[in-house]
Amino acid sequence: MQLTRYLLMGVLYAAPLWVLAATEPTGPSVTPAVQSLHLNWLDRNVNPARNFYEFANGDWLRQNPIPPAYSSWGQFSILYRQNQKFIHQLLENAAKNTRVQPGSDAQKIGDFYYSGMDTAAVNAAGVAPLAAEFKRINEITNLAQLQADIAHLQMIGVNALFNFGQMQDFKNSSEVIGVASQGGLGLPDRDYYRKKGAKFAKIRKEYVQHIARTFTLLGDRKDAAAWEAGTVMYIETQLAKASMSDVEQRNPRAVYHVMDLARLDKETPGFSWQTYLANVGYSQIKSLNLAMPKFFRAMSWNLKSVPLSSWKTYLRWQLIDAFAPYLSKPFVDENFRMQSELTGAKKLLPRWQRVVRAEDNALGFAVGKLYVEKKFPPSSKAEALIILHSIRAALKSDLETISWMSPRTRKAAIKKLDLMGERIGYPGKWRDYSALEINRGPYVLNVIRANEFENRRELSKIGKPVDRNEWYMTPQTVNAYYDPSMNNINFPAGILQPPFFDPNAPMAVNYGAIGAVMGHEMTHGFDDQGSQFDGYGNLKNWWTLLDRLHFDKNVKCIVRQFSGYTVDRDLHVQGKLVTGEAIADLGGLKLAWRAFHASPYYKDAPTIDGFTPDQQFFLGFAHFWATNIRPEEARRLVTVDPHPPAQYRVNGTLANLPQFQAAFHVPKKSPMIHKDRCVIW
Ligand SMILES: [Zn+2]
Repeated sequence: MQLTRYLLMGVLYAAPLWVLAATEPTGPSVTPAVQSLHLNWLDRNVNPARNFYEFANGDWLRQNPIPPAYSSWGQFSILYRQNQKFIHQLLENAAKNTRVQPGSDAQKIGDFYYSGMDTAAVNAAGVAPLAAEFKRINEITNLAQLQADIAHLQMIGVNALFNFGQMQDFKNSSEVIGVASQGGLGLPDRDYYRKKGAKFAKIRKEYVQHIARTFTLLGDRKDAAAWEAGTVMYIETQLAKASMSDVEQRNPRAVYHVMDLARLDKETPGFSWQTYLANVGYSQIKSLNLAMPKFFRAMSWNLKSVPLSSWKTYLRWQLIDAFAPYLSKPFVDENFRMQSELTGAKKLLPRWQRVVRAEDNALGFAVGKLYVEKKFPPSSKAEALIILHSIRAALKSDLETISWMSPRTRKAAIKKLDLMGERIGYPGKWRDYSALEINRGPYVLNVIRANEFENRRELSKIGKPVDRNEWYMTPQTVNAYYDPSMNNINFPAGILQPPFFDPNAPMAVNYGAIGAVMGHEMTHGFDDQGSQFDGYGNLKNWWTLLDRLHFDKNVKCIVRQFSGYTVDRDLHVQGKLVTGEAIADLGGLKLAWRAFHASPYYKDAPTIDGFTPDQQFFLGFAHFWATNIRPEEARRLVTVDPHPPAQYRVNGTLANLPQFQAAFHVPKKSPMIHKDRCVIW
C-alpha cells in the first residue's frame, strides 16, 4: 500500500497543496528526450480536429507500451526514471565511500542505500526486526493501552485509524496548528469499500485474501488468518463508511473545525485527546483542527463497541502492511500481489528502484542537495524565471482587463497575484538531518526511524511561526505545486528539464510545456478552491457576491464537461473532484499562449516542418501528457485523484480554447470544440 509519504502530514486533506500531476513516479527510460518537438510522435492518420491527443502522440503511444513493472508510462515517468538513474549513481558511490564522517549526510545516504540493497541480511531477518512492535500490540489489555499504541504506531509511520499532523491555520496563515484527519484504510480510498460493481467487489475479495495470506506469513494458522482478515475488513469498512468523500474534502470550510480539548473530548466520547497528545509527546497542544468530525465520532463509537482483540488484529495488520515492502521476499511479494490487483502492474520494480524511492522519502533533501549540485546550473534558474515572469505579466493584464469583474474584486485579485511568492529549483536552506540515525541495517528500522524523524519534525512546528523557506517537494521531484496557505508557486529542479523545459527547444514548445505548467500553478491561486484564500493565505472572502456568482456559474461548466468523460469504458470522471485541476489546466494554457505571443520570441519564431509557432506550442503541451495507462490504474486514479486523466487534460482543455481551434483550423461541430465553451479566466 502507499506508505509513509502523506501519513501524518495531513496535507492532502487539511492543508491542500495543489500539485501538477498525480504521478507515483515510475519508469524505465527508453530514449531521453533530445528535442522537445517530437514530430515523429504524431499519428498523421488522426485528424487533429477530432482527437488532438491522438494526433500529437499516437505514434509514441503505440511504440511505447507500458513496461511490466509499471501501471502507467508517460513523460513524467520517463523523466522520473532518468532522475532515478542519476540518483542511483550518487547513492552507489555514497555506499562505497567508507571514509565518511559518522553522522554526516553522506554517511546516512550511503548507509540507507546499503541497508536496502543488502538482500541477504533483509531475507535472513524475515519479520524479526518488527518483533518489538508486535510484542507491544500483543501486550495491550485495555483501551488506554490501545490508545497509546495507536499514537506510537502513527509516529513510526503506520496508518493506524487516523492521521495526525500540522497545518497552517486556514483562518490565520501565520500560525501552525495540529490537525487530525481520517485514515486507517488499507485500500486506496473509501470508495473501494463502498462502490457497487463487479470490479470493486473483486478487489475487496482479493484484499481480504491478501490480508489472510499475510497473516499466515506471520505464522498464524490458516483458519485463524481467514477470520482475522474478516475482522480487519469489518473495521476498515466501518471507517470507510464514516469517511468524507474526496469531493467533499475539496471544500476547505468542510474540513476546518478547530476545537479545544473539552470540545474534542465531547466529539469523541471514550477517546481522550489530552492523553493522545501526551502519548505523541505534544501535551502542550490545547486545541486542534478535527478535520472530519463525523469520522472521529464513528471511530470513538467503534473503539468502544468493537472487541479489544479485534482492534489488536487490526493494528497487527496495519503494522505489517506499512512495512512489508522493507522486509524479506515473501512479504514483498505478497504486498506486490495486492498492488498489482490495484494498479495492474505485472512485475515488481527492480530492487534498486524501490530502494531509491524509499530513500527519496527518508532523506529526500539530503539527496536533493547532491542532485542540484550536479544537475541544476544557475543558468537554468535564470531562464526559467524569464518565462515565469512573462506568464505572471499575462495573468496580471488578464485580471486588469477581464470584463465581468467589479473594481473591488479586481483590486483584491491583483493584490493576491502581487503577493504570490515564486520559488524555482530548491530551498535556500537545507534540511537538517543530524537528529536522524541511519545505519547499515536492518533496512526496515532505518525506514521506521526516518518516518518518526519526519513526523516529529512536522509536529514540532505546531505553535511556532510558519517557516516560509520550507519546500514541500524535494528538488529532484518531477512535479510542481501551488500552496494556498503560503500563496506561493513552486517549481523543483526536477521538472525544469526536457521535455518540460529545454533551452535548445523552440521557445514555442517551451511555452506550451513549462509555460503551461507555470500558468497552471499560478491559476490554482484563482481556481474554485484557491480563490477562497486571500493573498496572505487566509481563508477569507475577497469577492463581491455578484462576481462570485458569476465565477461559480463558470465553474459549473467545467464540472459538466469533465463529468461526461469516462475511463475503462464505464467509469465516469468525477467532474466535481477534478474541477480545480481542470480550471488550472485551462487558465494555465491560456496564460502561456498569451505570454508567448507577448514575448520577443514570438516575432522570430520559425515554422518547423510546416508547423507554425502556434501549432508547435499546442504540440508541446500535448506531448508532455502522452501517457499509456492500465485500466486498473485508470480506475484507481479516477476514484482518488483530483487530476483529470491525461487525454482529457489535453482534449478537454483545448476544446475550450479558440486559440487552439484557430491554430489548427478546427471546423465547427468538431469534437475538439466544446459547444458550451467554458471560460474561467
Ligand atoms: Zn494542479
